[in-house]
Amino acid sequence: MEPINKVIKILLVEDVATDAELTIRQLRRDGLVVEAQRVKTRDAFIAGLKVFKPDLILSDYSLPEFDGLSALLIAHDACPDIPFLFLSGTIGEETAIHALKAGAIDYVLKTNLSRLGAAVRRALDEAHMRLAHRQAESRFRDLIEFAPHAIVVTNDQGRIEIVNAQAESLFGYRRDEVVGMLSETLIPGCLRQWHEALQGRDPAAPDSGTTALTLEAIGRSKNGGEFSAEVSLSPLKTEAGLWISGVVRDISERKEQENRLVRLSRLHTVLSGINTAIVRIHDRQKFLEEICRIAVEDGLFAAAWIGMLDRDTLRLTPQAWVGVERDYLDQFGLSADERLPEGRGPTGVALRNRTGAVAHDTLDLPMGPWRTLLVDRGYRSTCTIPLLAGSEVIGALILYATQAGVFNEEERRLLSMVAADISFALNHFSQEEQINYLAYFDSVTGLPNRALFKDRVTQLIESCSAKHGGKIVLVLLDLDRFRNINEAFGRSATDELLREVARRLRSVVPEPGCLARIHADCFAFAMQETGNETDIISLLERSVAVRLSAPITALGKDIRTSATAGIVLYPTDGTDIDILLRNGEAALKNAKAIKARYLFYTSEMNARTAEKLSIENRLRRALEQEQFVLYYQPKIDLASNRIIGLEALIRWNDPEYGLIQPEKFIHILEETGLIVEAGKWVIHRARRQYHEWAAHGIEAPRIALNVSQLQIRQKDFVRHTIHLLGEHEPGNFELEITESLFMQGADQDAAKMKLAALRETGITMAIDDFGTGYSSLSYIAHLPIDTLKIDRSFIQDMTTSREHMAIVSTIISLAHSLKFKVVAEGVETHKQARLLKALGCDHIQGFLYSRTLPPWEIEEKLVLQQGM
Ligand code: C2E
Ligand code: CA
Ligand code: CA
Repeated sequence: MEPINKVIKILLVEDVATDAELTIRQLRRDGLVVEAQRVKTRDAFIAGLKVFKPDLILSDYSLPEFDGLSALLIAHDACPDIPFLFLSGTIGEETAIHALKAGAIDYVLKTNLSRLGAAVRRALDEAHMRLAHRQAESRFRDLIEFAPHAIVVTNDQGRIEIVNAQAESLFGYRRDEVVGMLSETLIPGCLRQWHEALQGRDPAAPDSGTTALTLEAIGRSKNGGEFSAEVSLSPLKTEAGLWISGVVRDISERKEQENRLVRLSRLHTVLSGINTAIVRIHDRQKFLEEICRIAVEDGLFAAAWIGMLDRDTLRLTPQAWVGVERDYLDQFGLSADERLPEGRGPTGVALRNRTGAVAHDTLDLPMGPWRTLLVDRGYRSTCTIPLLAGSEVIGALILYATQAGVFNEEERRLLSMVAADISFALNHFSQEEQINYLAYFDSVTGLPNRALFKDRVTQLIESCSAKHGGKIVLVLLDLDRFRNINEAFGRSATDELLREVARRLRSVVPEPGCLARIHADCFAFAMQETGNETDIISLLERSVAVRLSAPITALGKDIRTSATAGIVLYPTDGTDIDILLRNGEAALKNAKAIKARYLFYTSEMNARTAEKLSIENRLRRALEQEQFVLYYQPKIDLASNRIIGLEALIRWNDPEYGLIQPEKFIHILEETGLIVEAGKWVIHRARRQYHEWAAHGIEAPRIALNVSQLQIRQKDFVRHTIHLLGEHEPGNFELEITESLFMQGADQDAAKMKLAALRETGITMAIDDFGTGYSSLSYIAHLPIDTLKIDRSFIQDMTTSREHMAIVSTIISLAHSLKFKVVAEGVETHKQARLLKALGCDHIQGFLYSRTLPPWEIEEKLVLQQGM
């Protein structure tokens, strides 16, 4: 509340001059500075409102030529924001209630004037707050309007109060159609989920930031269409009750992607299940039945069956089935004969062409007995994959699913690997020889051995070359220090270790069917190449290396292991498996020699990897040898034009290339995790700088440090930072964090708590690059922060883009209503600075005032400012 120390203009509706005199004297005695005008007629009152422009009206109840109630009604119409108080000698209780109902703020009896001062103060405070509130609300509406996502605000009755343009286009309703509607209509069940989730908690409690909730629901648009929606709900305390604001995003695409991944991972399960069946089951019929069972139980297909092709009649005879009955299958009478109608469906095509065939939607099949058979059972898509002996078709695996469009290309590819496995097993069964399974599988891990791996990759190559332009990646993974481990821990422990490594690899490689142990300490896997070499690298770094790095407990001992990878690509590095393996082994050997974690066989790719590797190594060295330096950019206070802060920005003083800007290396520090170490160095260095300046008698302003999310996630971040910057340095340091830190689901509460703990010790917090991410304002309001830094991109365009101008202005006013300071980043022109000043922005930072400078140049500026 603002203290009332300015002159208060009071319009007195009073016929008795001495009463007016007494009133004014009383107000002054109560410490108010007042200027009053007395009126006693209607006309004088109306004129007074217009010309005198009072802050407050004090009115007698009954006057000879006028009356208080009429005055109230006039004032209420003309200027509802001006508080109206009755001051009367004779007001009875009933009249008083009537007056208050009509809109008067308060009434004071002339016989009890000592209450007047307090009543006036309170009335003015309330009026002030109402006004502020209304302004905040209109800014809030602006901000909603410019938000990058659809926003729907509902009132406490669940009815829609506000929507923005994005919501109009997402749901297809016009604003006037949708306001007043129940939000249930747009997002059924959403509010119910919210109330359930918040059961027992008060969403309007002061810490309600934590009651913000993100949930998934179905969105319904006007034309009846439905989409998967992600809704982030947060409470909004308004005068009219507790409203709820929902940010709605259409996530249909993401959901579909997720479903697809779920299906694919099921197929992987099918694949490894079949591998196991091959090793375990030696009976052909049992094996076929097991395949169908796995397909239905693990693959979640509605039904699966395997038919064998009669070479003479070209009929497909069911041999094993799960989920359907033999009678049912017989009704299809499938054939490979092109001349028969039974041979012209997808299965006939698959049998003749020796590749998988799919009915994406059985409703699209031509009318006929088959269609009826399938549709009646609710089968909406089918897939037939031929089983081969050499190049000859011997049968087919047929799958039915209850959804249409299940068998996309990726799914079919995996299924053809399933078929290849089945074919492989059947060939051996048919040769009726006593198969030595151990000839194909590694007895320790159960994975395919080198021979079977070669076989599998050859199949993969064949399916690839049939497709034209298909590429395959082969990765050879060699366990580091395997011999040492073997010697140190013994054979049994090593076997245990190998089994665990196999288990971990199986869970991360994209195609577990193509994972093998090809040599004592060497695993290999193959996969179709989908993207580029960085995908492979990220698979190796993010999944494989991470999975392998956790210690393995074997026979009660913790063993740490890591692996080196050699990578070859088909067809670039070889067109048959022997050449590929040879080159892969060469790459592996080279990798070991230069102590790289992985190496591509192809030189061109190596060049790129090597460059990255060498930067990484150089950065490591840079850290060790303190080649980093901190430069500083001043932050200027717009009101006083003085430097009120510095932002520390890192530079790399490379002995070979000179000063390197952060954009060239920060992301590598982040990717490699080196940022944690670098971040610690930054904190040390900045603190030392601060004290060096202090020792020279220079009063350095607060120094802001950029911290990366990775740093904040470290367990010891709070302890370490408080140790250096908290407690003994109150107010000397600030941390700059990007808002995305708070967008990451599970982590966000932890991050919030960490920052709050730091802030307790006097370290201030700023949100960096504000506006580039999306933070709900009600959420930002509850973060433990002091400052918002508006991203450079908005400042750059604010003089040319009306939208950016509006955003900047809304951010500033909102930030202020939330008691945050605002810094504008990247201010380059006087025009921008002037505009920002007019908008009430607190601080600016940018080339207009100063570039980022080395400490000695900053020192000059500080000395100058200090007038030393
Ligand atoms: P940032 O935190 O947004 O820092 C502001 C960047 O904007 C600085 O670039 C600064 O030189 C530049 N800048 C300032 N005024 C202007 C202007 O008027 N016009 C233009 N065009 N640019 C301006 P710099 O120093 O290259 O830093 C780039 C980014 O690198 C920083 O962005 C920050 O994200 C990161 N960074 C720098 N030092 C550190 C550090 O010590 N730790 C971490 N984690 N990140 C850092
Ligand atoms: Ca920054
Ligand atoms: Ca920034």
